[in-house]
Amino acid sequence: MQEEIKCINCDGIATLVSTEGAIKTYLCSACGFKFEGIAHYVEQPISLGIKNYRAFVIVPDEVEARKAAFKIRRLFSGLSNFYLEDLQSQLSAGVLELDLGIYSDREVEKLLPQAEILNLNLKFVLVP
Ligand SMILES: [Zn+2]
Repeated sequence: MQEEIKCINCDGIATLVSTEGAIKTYLCSACGFKFEGIAHYVEQPISLGIKNYRAFVIVPDEVEARKAAFKIRRLFSGLSNFYLEDLQSQLSAGVLELDLGIYSDREVEKLLPQAEILNLNLKFVLVP
């Protein structure tokens, strides 16, 4: 997996282009800015910003949407960015691409394996 961090110049996505000892060089794909980060941990590079993701569940029809809603409620209830009313209004509007709000990378890490167990088609899109 490619290492990505937030660009310190424009908040775009910068990818790791080289590593020399503890110095990691990142190149921003949005503005072309090149900068260095220092790794404080052997296995984990320092993160210059918390990444946020928007969660989506895409379903083929309204029957599947209702089935997915049960799983979504089970998975997301208790999370601060999850609004049940939002989900319900999307269901009544017949939306097939359910927008579940924004979650941190830590929440994503917990949600993804659980979604897989529930066989829920959960997708996360990085919020710029
Ligand atoms: Zn940039």
